Amino acid sequence: ATGTAPEADNGSLRTADGSQVLLSINVNAPDEVDSILAATTAGIGLMRSEFAVTSLGDAANEEKQFAIYRRLLGWADGRAVTIRMLDIGGDKPLSGLTEAPSLRGVRLLLARPEIARVQARALLRAAVFSNLRVMLPMVTFPSDVDDIRQIYREEASELARRGVPHRIPPIGMMVEVPAAALMLDRFESADFFSFGTNDLAQYLIASAREDADFALYQDRAVPAVLRLLSQAVKLAGGKPVSICGDMAGDPARTADLLAAGICHFSVAPARLPAIRSAIVGLNADGTKAAGE
Ligand code: PEP
Ligand code: MG
Repeated sequence: ATGTAPEADNGSLRTADGSQVLLSINVNAPDEVDSILAATTAGIGLMRSEFAVTSLGDAANEEKQFAIYRRLLGWADGRAVTIRMLDIGGDKPLSGLTEAPSLRGVRLLLARPEIARVQARALLRAAVFSNLRVMLPMVTFPSDVDDIRQIYREEASELARRGVPHRIPPIGMMVEVPAAALMLDRFESADFFSFGTNDLAQYLIASAREDADFALYQDRAVPAVLRLLSQAVKLAGGKPVSICGDMAGDPARTADLLAAGICHFSVAPARLPAIRSAIVGLNADGTKAAGE
């Protein structure tokens, strides 16, 4: 451990046997960060932009989006800020946009590229200021990432032509569709991966998150989700891997997730203390520390 901050107050923790674990936060509404000290986190592991961009008007508003992303980067003060592009559809409908059930997340962005392009420009411009990472929702096929990358290249050229400062940020993906998790070694153009266990569970067990009984099904899905996660980590080829689904914020699962090879957790702010104390009481392989 380096630095002067006590480890318990830092987003970079160590397991009982000294392995580094990163602990980031999930952010829905941007003002949620106001009550959190950035220095107690490793940054933002998931910003659900669909909670800040909630209308077709917002989706077309590059300046509004730019201001939101800049503000989060300012808060993070150099720590990583992972903005997920709009995840519209499924359990997060937006009227006027979500007619076909299979058209959600990145697939919807590619079907409505005018929306993806506005967000890409806002993110390209914000990336100049600090440590921004872009994450794609509901990626299913490698071409989903390639096609979005192409949009970033084109919008970057357009900004360059207009003399607008910009930078192409790292572009990673949610791993929340079982077909993507199984084939993770094929996603060459993704810079990083983050497991979304909420959608992964729903699609693994033929269930729906909107159902009243989903929590019951989800509990029973845990062994299957964990097996898929540990296989997928091995297919990640050494690229950065994190988990931002709700399972990351459940201290009863921390040992299993460490054992699966995950050492970056992104959790709702309220879950930080519980996950911090779970991590320091465990070894890197998920076994209990001596004396615990
Ligand atoms: C998930 O699916 O696990 C996830 C983190 O994304 P969301 O809950 O926003 O769908
Ligand atoms: Mg999801």
